[in-house]
Amino acid sequence: MKKSKVCVVTGASKGIGNAIAKRLNSDGYHSVAVDINEPDDDDFKSADGITFIKCDVTNEEEVHKLFSSVISDFGSVDVLVNNAGIIRDNMIWNMPEQDFDNVINVNLKGTWLMCKAASGLMKEKGSGCIINIASRAWLGNAGQTNYAASKAGVVALTRVLSLELGRYGIAVNAVAPGLIDTPMTRKLPAEVLEKLILAQPTRKIGLPEDVAHAVSFLADSRTSFINGQVIYVDGGKSVASNMV
Ligand code: NAP
Repeated sequence: MKKSKVCVVTGASKGIGNAIAKRLNSDGYHSVAVDINEPDDDDFKSADGITFIKCDVTNEEEVHKLFSSVISDFGSVDVLVNNAGIIRDNMIWNMPEQDFDNVINVNLKGTWLMCKAASGLMKEKGSGCIINIASRAWLGNAGQTNYAASKAGVVALTRVLSLELGRYGIAVNAVAPGLIDTPMTRKLPAEVLEKLILAQPTRKIGLPEDVAHAVSFLADSRTSFINGQVIYVDGGKSVASNMV
């Protein structure tokens, strides 16, 4: 069945983005799932109400092609969720310049390119909702100069866009997850992950669905007066960083 509302979710082949694409689909959206690589899950790819489009969010030409095909196939973009992101952790003295550039490029510039392309379409329509996935790490995490700076940039971008786009009926907010169980965190050495879990106020790791629930809340037209905010989904970790 064709759904009238359309969302675009980046980094949707796995992890948090995958959960968001599924959740918004069950909320009644047609989910356009975007990723640099195809999802492994064939059921997801062929699910009713989900369309996968391959796109590198750092490539402006690919981003333009993506929105052209979304508009020609589905007519509009009601919700954009910028979730694609990478980590390349290291203390600054060991961090290759390339790892700084790559993280800023995907997490910050990719989000900016997607916002730029979608905001033009939403402005024309006079409505829209943009949700950027930041991270609690923007407040500071040793070993993440690149990542924290990229996510601080995402928070700043979100706040500025809420000022620029509010008059056109577009709400722009960020969701800042804490430690979430995804392929990204599963790449960490087991002992590091265990330490991180013990440093959480809840002593728990969150689930992608916890983040998807907050996105679903912000995508709901009844919360459209929330604009320029950061919602933490982190078990309280943002309250203090010195839990041991
Ligand atoms: P993930 O499991 O690694 O999934 C991220 C997805 O984004 C992957 O499918 C990845 O593709 C894709 N991607 C990477 N570069 C891309 C690009 N240039 N264009 C399009 N897609 C691209 O990560 P996650 O843990 O779900 O994280 C999702 C978001 O939440 C990220 O922005 C992350 O920073 C943020 N976050 C995560 C946590 C956490 O604890 N997991 C905490 C705070 C914030 P490939 O892997 O195939 O390259």
